[in-house]
Amino acid sequence: MIQASPSNDTTSASAWHELAERVLTGHKLTHEEALGILRSNDDELPDLLAATHRVRRRYFGNTVQLYFLMNAKSGLCPEDCNYCSQSKISDAEIPRYNLLNREKLLDGARVAYERGSKTYCIVISARGPNESEINAVERMVPEIKEKFGLNICACLGLLTPEQAQRLKACGVAKVNHNLNTSEEHYGTICSTHSYQDRVDTLKAVREAGMELCSGGIIGMGEADDDVVRMCFSLRDLAVESIPVNFLNPIDGTPLAGKQDLNPRYCLKVLCLFRLANPTSEIRIAGGREIHLRSLQPLGMYAANSLFVGDYLTTKGQPPEADYRMIEDMGFTVTKGEETAIRLRAMEQAATA
Ligand code: SF4
Repeated sequence: MIQASPSNDTTSASAWHELAERVLTGHKLTHEEALGILRSNDDELPDLLAATHRVRRRYFGNTVQLYFLMNAKSGLCPEDCNYCSQSKISDAEIPRYNLLNREKLLDGARVAYERGSKTYCIVISARGPNESEINAVERMVPEIKEKFGLNICACLGLLTPEQAQRLKACGVAKVNHNLNTSEEHYGTICSTHSYQDRVDTLKAVREAGMELCSGGIIGMGEADDDVVRMCFSLRDLAVESIPVNFLNPIDGTPLAGKQDLNPRYCLKVLCLFRLANPTSEIRIAGGREIHLRSLQPLGMYAANSLFVGDYLTTKGQPPEADYRMIEDMGFTVTKGEETAIRLRAMEQAATA
């Protein structure tokens, strides 16, 4: 950890920039360096953000990718994830319904398209999909892609290798399945499935040839070490797209009322995820409005992606506020091929 004080601002700035420079030339953050980011002094934050922005700019320029969530089946889940309003142990007042019909899924895709999203995320509340849910996804994905040209990310819970193959075959580009927290902390947030179950699903998705979307939730009582371990696990799995959620402690869930975060810590988390996963898409996900608050725009110096619109069972800020923030920052929404992937391929070709 860098101990900065008003008298050594230059040291703080140069140390963070030196770390960013090393990341840009292939350095993998160590556990100690990662902890140093999370525990850095608040008065170092402008320097940390500036250094992190160099890495973001290198791989993603000034682009922002938008994702749109469709809660295709809400509530009724037999799992007991403590943070989730849709779990069997939640009394949260949320809509509960089975899989939406074709028209509603198409309506959602139209909204995603109109809002400039690159990716339409079809999410169901479930331990894993049943046969009729997989069949519905297989029917809908080609139609949505043909009509709206959207990338499809499916979030259907735990998957078998065979189910993953079927998703790949029908045109799903990536699958979301969050690790949520570290392996060590996992038992405190869920007892009905294990961290390893989640890792196995991610491996099945990878083996089927799809991209991984996997991230976590910050603020569930974990230690800084847990945040670092989760972040590094995502790095080890080479996850392409990492949603970073900040716990929205929904009334009726076991974590209701939990409030461990402040906006500056949330920014440090985003910097950690960018510096540890320089070429991955980092998305500021659920809870950004209530935890980053007025500092939301600064998060974009580390992250390059946002959900636009509402979350699964909670409200997001109006899309117009997101567009204004993106424009005010001098960033532009892109639906193009991910800059990082192209740059990574160019770098590999140059060193071959
Ligand atoms: S498996 Fe998913 S939908 Fe079910 S309780 Fe856990 S997070 Fe919620």
